Amino acid sequence: MTNEPTDVLVVGAGPTGLFLALLLAKLGVGVRIVDAAAEPGTTSRALAVQARTLELYRQVGIVDDVLARALVFGDVNLWRRGTRVAHVDLSGIGRGVSPFPFGVIFPQDEHERLLITHLEAEGVRVERRTTIRAIEAGDPCVARGTGPQGAQVEYRARFVAGCDGARSAVREAIGAGFPGGTYAHVFYVADIEARGRPMNRQLHVLLDDAGFLAVFPLAGEGRARLIGTIKSEAEGSENKLGWDDVDRRPVDSAGLEVTRVNWFSTYRVHHRVADRFRAGNVFLLGDAGHIHSPVGGQGMNTGLGDAMNLAWKLAAVIAGRANGDVLDTYEPERIAFARRLVATTDRVFKATTSESRLAELVRLELLPRLLPHVASTQLGGRLLFAAVSQTGVEYRHSGWSQGHAGRVHGGDRLPWVPPATEGGSDNFTPLTSLDWQAHVYGVPPDGAADVCAARAVPLHSFPFDARAEAASLARNAVYLVRPDGYVGGAFAGGSSAAAAARYLEVHGVRGRSARAARPPSDVRRQEGARNER
Ligand SMILES: Cc1cc2nc3c(=O)[nH]c(=O)nc-3n(C[C@H](O)[C@H](O)[C@H](O)COP(=O)(O)OP(=O)(O)OC[C@H]3O[C@@H](n4cnc5c(N)ncnc54)[C@H](O)[C@@H]3O)c2cc1C
Repeated sequence: MTNEPTDVLVVGAGPTGLFLALLLAKLGVGVRIVDAAAEPGTTSRALAVQARTLELYRQVGIVDDVLARALVFGDVNLWRRGTRVAHVDLSGIGRGVSPFPFGVIFPQDEHERLLITHLEAEGVRVERRTTIRAIEAGDPCVARGTGPQGAQVEYRARFVAGCDGARSAVREAIGAGFPGGTYAHVFYVADIEARGRPMNRQLHVLLDDAGFLAVFPLAGEGRARLIGTIKSEAEGSENKLGWDDVDRRPVDSAGLEVTRVNWFSTYRVHHRVADRFRAGNVFLLGDAGHIHSPVGGQGMNTGLGDAMNLAWKLAAVIAGRANGDVLDTYEPERIAFARRLVATTDRVFKATTSESRLAELVRLELLPRLLPHVASTQLGGRLLFAAVSQTGVEYRHSGWSQGHAGRVHGGDRLPWVPPATEGGSDNFTPLTSLDWQAHVYGVPPDGAADVCAARAVPLHSFPFDARAEAASLARNAVYLVRPDGYVGGAFAGGSSAAAAARYLEVHGVRGRSARAARPPSDVRRQEGARNER
């Protein structure tokens, strides 16, 4: 059966694919999304939603729904040999950096359901029981597989987005390698009901010689997520492991009395990054492109960041609002971050699980002493926040990043300037348009308004005050901001309007209100012609 052609076929309806499809739908792109599974996921898996993801969710108007259902990631406690040895409050460490100075806990199954609700409101339904097995990368791409009741299906789409997870068939189809490795330890995740000291809606981490255990609060009285290690003697028989195989020493030493286990799963932790994220018009995103240890709660958030990075580029190329080479920036921008992330989580993971004397010294002595100090200073808090929140991710080396003004470079996330009064609008408010825009803090230089009008790029002026200065922005400079909230070009000085004009022209950038200029090779035309035959 050949399906109706589309602009973008999204393979996989996990968080990455759902967010990508939602963004594309909001950007007016024809999108279809398929998933092998009959139903959305029912297990909580990724819990942490980082500040940068909340910023992206604000852009698409779903952040309030997330915050209404999530718990703010606040108090963190470190334990050693049954005693709490450190406590830090992380609920405001990103104050001044992000409108969301915290991460939140929001179980992945509820998260996916929320994304599905918003996607359906845009008129897009996940086509389930549909497994893609082969792809011909071309223009259009052809994806083949099996649909409900095992029928052969064929999709034609100008672009294919492989969001089909760690065992990605799309990755296989484009012949991308997945180099890296797998750690020896077997971990478990369990959603439990329990009594005891750690059940106080705070996060508890036991890092001691009794093994490893993390206790995450879940919404609902007496519910928590445990991540811990399996008894070493049970590690060989992974398929049959259950709650009885859990290393119980840290559970007991934390005084945790588990009354019910609602979900239990074991996993080995991998660290791998695909050797490319693109082949022609086929792209890899999320776990299909990178997997690593859950340390720091980064995995799912990285996939959501991939989706934002690619969505506006696809939309712009499909609508003829940017040069096609913008698609060349997806892989270098995202693979560089994925490699850094996998290397960092690898180091932290090894330090967390290593049995060496040095690692034990760091875990048991240094960390409990240092962490509260680091988190309580402004600099330390900011470094910690930059490390986990993904607000520090930058694309300075991208081919579409140019110039600098103040300490802000092309390729940096637009720094957040808080509102003048609580509840007022801030400089992130216009980002909800998901469109290119120019920002000036101070007075727009001569000619800037005309440059922007000619390209249908809205120009937003903000006062240059202490808040803008604190955000490292430069007075009267022109910042060209991409639809994903990154600065593309930053231009200061007398020729800033001309430099902005050149940037927009060289890259063929036009705002979304520009008259539609779909390129002649547009897939719909080709497909229209094919349908008429
Ligand atoms: C037990 C467990 C615990 C985890 N805990 C954490 C955590 O605490 N923190 C964290 O950050 N991450 C965690 N993760 C990882 C996190 O769940 C992933 O990073 C996240 O799910 C990635 O999202 P994704 O959309 O890229 O891929 P996935 O969620 O894997 O979604 C892929 C989708 O593609 C579909 N699919 C697969 N193949 C095909 C095909 N050929 N055709 C059509 N559809 C297909 C699948 O059915 C699935 O719905 C955990 C994972 C597991 C398994």
